[in-house]
Amino acid sequence: MTNRSDDQWNRPLRDLRISVIDRCNFRCRYCMPEEIFGHDYPFLPKERILTFEEITRLSRIFVSLGVTKLRITGGEPLLRKDLSSLIHSLTQLEGVEDIAMTTNGVFLPKYAAALREAGLARVTVSLDSLDDERFRRMNGGKSSVKAVLDGIDAAAQAGMQVKINMVVQKGFNDQDIVPMADYFQKKKHILRFVEFMDVGNTNGWKLDQVVSKQQILHTIHEHMPLEPVPPQYTGEVATRYRYRDREGEIGIISSVTDAFCSTCTRARISAEGSLYTCLFASQGYELRTMLRSEQSDDEIRAYVERVWRGRTDRYSEERLTHTQRTLSKIEMSHIGG
Ligand code: SAM
Ligand code: SF4
Ligand code: SF4
Repeated sequence: MTNRSDDQWNRPLRDLRISVIDRCNFRCRYCMPEEIFGHDYPFLPKERILTFEEITRLSRIFVSLGVTKLRITGGEPLLRKDLSSLIHSLTQLEGVEDIAMTTNGVFLPKYAAALREAGLARVTVSLDSLDDERFRRMNGGKSSVKAVLDGIDAAAQAGMQVKINMVVQKGFNDQDIVPMADYFQKKKHILRFVEFMDVGNTNGWKLDQVVSKQQILHTIHEHMPLEPVPPQYTGEVATRYRYRDREGEIGIISSVTDAFCSTCTRARISAEGSLYTCLFASQGYELRTMLRSEQSDDEIRAYVERVWRGRTDRYSEERLTHTQRTLSKIEMSHIGG
C-alpha cells in the first residue's frame, strides 16, 4: 500500500545515517586517499558542522516522519568530542528503536564504556585485513591491525554487539576473505563483506576491482560451507548466510552486483547538515540554514517530507547501464556510508 510519505518508488523513510564529522584519522584508499585529502584539505570549520542540539532536533523531526533506526558515522565519529552525550540525547527520543555507530575502531578502548553507558548497544567496526602490511596499504598507514582488534575487544567487553565490515578490493585484500571469516567466527562477531563501491570521485573505482558477492560466497564456502538465512526484515542491507558445520553467520553487502535499491529506506545527513537521499547523490538539500533560522520544526518537517516524496534514487540498480557516468558525487567521508 502506498503511504502519503513514501517516495516515488513506494519506499518509506525508516533509517537515518548521521555523519557527525568530515575528518578522519585514517586515509583509506577507497574513501579518503591521502594525495587528495592531504594536509591542506579544506575540512569543514567547526561553525559549519551541526551541533549536537541541531542533530538531536533533526533526528526528532526525522523520527516523526517514520525513522526508527539511527546510525552515527563520519569521517571518524569518535573524533567528535563527547560523542556519548549525543548518543544519550538520541536514546531519549521516543520512537527510536535502534542506534548504531560505524567506526574504524581505534578509539574504542578509550570510549567504549562511556558509549555503552550512554545507551549505544551496537557498533560496526571497519577492518579490511588481519595482515598488518595489507591493512596499512589499504588504510593509509595510519594505524595497526592490533589497534583495531583492541577496539573490537573493548566494545565487546563493554557489552556492545559488534559487527565487522570488510571492504573487499581485488588485488588488495581478496586473500584475507577466509582468514577474516575464520577469525571472526571464532570471536563470535558477525563479519560483513562489502563490495568495493564507486562512491565519491576520488577512489579511482573500476568494476574489475570489485570482488562480487558470488565470488566471496564461493571462496568461503570452499573452506566453511554456508547456507542462506532469510532476512530479518525488509530492506536489510546485508544478505545473510550461516555456517553449516559451526556456529555463526556472515553478511554480504552487494551494492554493485546485486543492488537493493528497491527496498532502500535510508536517508543521510552530512556533517554540515545537508540531506542526501542516496549514497551516490550529487546534490544535497541544505537543512542547516533552516535549523539556524526562525523555521519551526513543522516547517522543516514539511520540507524533508517533500524531498523524500520526490525521491527517485536507484543508482546501484542503474549503475551497470551507466558505466560512462561522470556525475560529481558526494564523497563517502562526507556522508559516512
Ligand atoms: N570511519 C568510519 C569507518 O571507517 O568505519 C565510518 C565512516 S566510513 C565512510 C563507513 C564505511 O564505509 C566503512 O565501513 C568503510 O569501510 C566503508 N567504505 C568507505 N568507502 C567505501 C567504498 N568505496 N566501497 C565500499 N565501502 C566503503
Ligand atoms: Fe576514515 Fe572510515 Fe573513510 Fe577509512 S572509511 S578514511 S576510516 S572515514
Ligand atoms: Fe539506496 Fe542509493 Fe544505495 Fe540504491 S544506490 S541502495 S537508492 S543509497
